[in-house]
Amino acid sequence: MALIVQKYGGTSVADTDRIRSVAQRVIKTHSAGNDVVVVLSAMAGETNRLIQLAHQITDEPNTRELDVLLATGEQTTVSLFCIMLESMGCSAVSLLGHQANIITDTAFGRARIAEINADRIQDLLSQKKIVAIAGFQGRDQQGNITTLGRGGSDTSAVAIAAALKADICEIYTDVDGVYTTDPNICEKARKLEKVSYDEMLEMASLGAKVLQIRAVEFAKKFHVPVHVRSSFKEEEGTMVVEETEDMERLVVSGVAYSKDEARITLTKVPDHPGVASRILTPVGEAGIIVDMIIQNTRKGGLTDLTFTVPKADYQKAMSIQKEVAQSIGAEQVLGDEHIAKVSVIGVGMRSHSGVAAQTFAALAKENINIMMISTSEIKISCIIEEKHTELAVRVLHDAFALDSP
Ligand code: ADP
Ligand code: ASP
Ligand code: MG
Repeated sequence: MALIVQKYGGTSVADTDRIRSVAQRVIKTHSAGNDVVVVLSAMAGETNRLIQLAHQITDEPNTRELDVLLATGEQTTVSLFCIMLESMGCSAVSLLGHQANIITDTAFGRARIAEINADRIQDLLSQKKIVAIAGFQGRDQQGNITTLGRGGSDTSAVAIAAALKADICEIYTDVDGVYTTDPNICEKARKLEKVSYDEMLEMASLGAKVLQIRAVEFAKKFHVPVHVRSSFKEEEGTMVVEETEDMERLVVSGVAYSKDEARITLTKVPDHPGVASRILTPVGEAGIIVDMIIQNTRKGGLTDLTFTVPKADYQKAMSIQKEVAQSIGAEQVLGDEHIAKVSVIGVGMRSHSGVAAQTFAALAKENINIMMISTSEIKISCIIEEKHTELAVRVLHDAFALDSP
């Protein structure tokens, strides 16, 4: 007998038929003698629908109230799921984030889990009930409802698994595992049997939304084995685990992309000490995370500075920069929302040179212009025009022959 946390994403609970088949799967696991905690997302498209509703009223909805709104998506699925289980003769209880004692900080829309008091969950499990918990949500110290950022139900599931010391956290989704790249845009993508926490962290942080990055951080920190698999099939998926000797150690192991960033350029910025700080400090103070930064040297004591921010924070960052540009005497502020970041990832890059050159050559061959580059020991990222994203992913996947192990 084991304690299993199963998380089902939006497409897996898209309608009542899908909820029925999830219920059947959960009952099967429970009947085999396991304790089962189920974490559910909102029905596919529901979170977007709710965000759009709020945006029909204003461009910048009050963040506290937006979280109250978004949390209803997951509330709907956990209740429907328990109604389904009860109708099938199974004893089940739904818990919202606050009822499950998932305590977060107060960063509405991107809250981080601080602690989970699992007593109530444990108590219900000891009564042999199936416990269904609303993903993506918690409450802060004052009792305000918070949400964990897009894709946050993955993090709810792994954090709950860690708090319960569960034997495994199963993430059920619409693909049957973690692939070398997004199988929905690259048909040659290859399914991985196992992937290390570190490699998965890198893939998630560079855009592979199959797991939210915070979920992987929790899994790594608390040694939670994660099994990513399909809710539409029976086959095993991909295990995300500690690095082991028998794991593939390719120079390049995957390609990721993200369309979630936007680019901002300040032109003819006076080039003297303290200016970069005057540009970027107010962005940080507004809670906006800057990813890539480049600065060109120009003649006459003037320079251009370009950086990227999450698309969701683009408008806010632009209005901050318009003020900054005036106060430091920069020429103008240019913005571009139609960009994408493609990244080549691999821990094996540490001991290999030439990956960057190969990456640039592959993109050049398809006439894809690179606007910004950033590198680390285990990844190379390029900012390109958004319309080239899918082509770039396929070309890079081919260039490093990722379809063959
Ligand atoms: P869920 O709603 O179940 O949480 P998501 O849409 O958040 O599902 O995540 C699953 C999606 O992640 C897949 O449909 C796929 O398009 C995308 N994806 C991106 N990169 C990868 C990858 N390397 N391996 C598998 N899926 C990936
Ligand atoms: N429903 C939330 C979202 O769409 C959380 C999740 O699905 O993980 O982002
Ligand atoms: Mg997801």
